Amino acid sequence: MPAHWDVIVVGGGNAGFCAAQSAREQGAQVLVLEKAPRQWAGGNSYFTAGAMRTSHGGLTDLKDLVEPSADDRFDHVDLDAYTEDHFLDDITRVTRGRTDPELARILVGESRATMNWLRDIGLRFELMFHRQAYEVDGRYRFWGGLAVGVVGGGKGMVEQHLTAAERTGVEVRFDAPVVRLATRPDATVRGVVLADGQVLEASSVVLASGGFEANPQMRAGYLGPGWDLALVRGTPYNTGDGIQMALAAGAQPHGHWSGSHAVAWDSGARPTGDRELTNQLTRGGYPFGIVVNAEGRRFVDEGADFRNYTYARYGAEILKQPGGIAYQLFDAKSAHLLRPEEYASKDVSKVESDTVAGLAKELGLDEDRLASTVDDFNAAITGGPFDPTVKDGSRTEGITPPKSNWAQPLDTPPYTAYPVTCGITFTFGGLRIDRDAHVLDTSGLPIPGLHAAGELVGGLFYFNYPGGSGLTAGSVFGRRAGRSAAAAAHGSRAAAA
Ligand SMILES: Cc1cc2nc3c(=O)[nH]c(=O)nc-3n(C[C@H](O)[C@H](O)[C@H](O)COP(=O)(O)OP(=O)(O)OC[C@H]3O[C@@H](n4cnc5c(N)ncnc54)[C@H](O)[C@@H]3O)c2cc1C
Repeated sequence: MPAHWDVIVVGGGNAGFCAAQSAREQGAQVLVLEKAPRQWAGGNSYFTAGAMRTSHGGLTDLKDLVEPSADDRFDHVDLDAYTEDHFLDDITRVTRGRTDPELARILVGESRATMNWLRDIGLRFELMFHRQAYEVDGRYRFWGGLAVGVVGGGKGMVEQHLTAAERTGVEVRFDAPVVRLATRPDATVRGVVLADGQVLEASSVVLASGGFEANPQMRAGYLGPGWDLALVRGTPYNTGDGIQMALAAGAQPHGHWSGSHAVAWDSGARPTGDRELTNQLTRGGYPFGIVVNAEGRRFVDEGADFRNYTYARYGAEILKQPGGIAYQLFDAKSAHLLRPEEYASKDVSKVESDTVAGLAKELGLDEDRLASTVDDFNAAITGGPFDPTVKDGSRTEGITPPKSNWAQPLDTPPYTAYPVTCGITFTFGGLRIDRDAHVLDTSGLPIPGLHAAGELVGGLFYFNYPGGSGLTAGSVFGRRAGRSAAAAAHGSRAAAA
């Protein structure tokens, strides 16, 4: 092991591997330090569906990126272009205009080129027929601005990153938690300190060690009371270490520190992520049913938008309900719209009955209350016809909260109910970076030798998040961080020569 590395990357998830590859491409000697053991490789990135939001020019453009379909499905695809303007509009809209405009423009503007770069370093992509398209009249209609995923989802992504790292000579060390940045008297960064006290020297350090979603103390402290009780969807190792060590070295906090990405999650799930089921514990079918709390009352507009634009904020709404629990209710008409990976996987928490009263009894809800919620909902439906591929305007009138799209009466047995709770994905608050992913100090100046990418960067996401943006953001800024860290290393080598 060299005594001095050009670039040390802290954290072996998607953002860390992108930074490492990008620095390696510039000729840097790169070491990735990963806190988790090998069997927990990949951080939150492993738990993902591998869905990646990118601007694109429609099917013809994406055919250059994705693997060919085994059958003739590409001949039956309806997939409109998703322009940079669309992407920027989406991120601006769901963050209520708070997204850092410079970071958002870079994310959007470099998304498509970065997908090609990822393909070139060894990631494999496919069109997500199973998640982002519905078959209507023999055509696969894509929806929600999200069409591309990594082959094999998050599990495939991590395997492909590890293979690429081995091929290009990026060294990866597991069981190597970084506890502190090593700094010089002038506060510049000279390396990292491991838990065993070892100091590893580097010209540049890239922090890519995730958010603080797996740290109950930080969750309660920054997100608010009750958040310590949320279930964690992913890795237990993202405990905010990189954020804390950077703040201790003078970094500037940025973004929505009381905000997070959190979804409807199987209420029977374990406290932190399940390496086998990963994202299959998500319950994303709620636009096609209704959601009630333990009092049998609805509390969100299930059809406010496509799932990709609402799922990340509905976890917080569930956490606010009595007992932090809710129930997604469907009838037989919607059963085929529920993705089997989520709703028919192993150990799904589920109740089924031929009557709504039967459901209430099984769930321990007040039967009259639930019956009147369902009756009021059914009576309030107007508009139509139902179409899951567009915001169909089939909605309710005169009830609160409304359901704005995909409202169909619950009237066809068997009825099913899925108990859900809040599953936190990642936190929105983090470090302030500049366009080259330098970490900035509290005066807004770059901290020499320190870069950051991925979940621990603040400023991009507030309140909500357009699905599939996390992996893309980690890739775009990881790539920039690696390039910039390698350039700094070249600079210090040239100065030393
Ligand atoms: C269930 C689930 C599904 C998701 N689905 C999607 C999706 O389909 N598309 C999408 O865009 N996003 C998705 N996300 C969000 C996505 O996971 C993140 O945006 C992205 O993976 C973050 O990448 P990262 O590299 O920043 O963090 P991570 O992948 O979490 O990597 C951080 C790494 O740092 C390590 N680490 C932490 N502390 C230290 C330390 N002190 N020293 C050394 N190493 C440390 C951790 O062990 C971890 O391996 C999903 C998340 C979850 C949990």
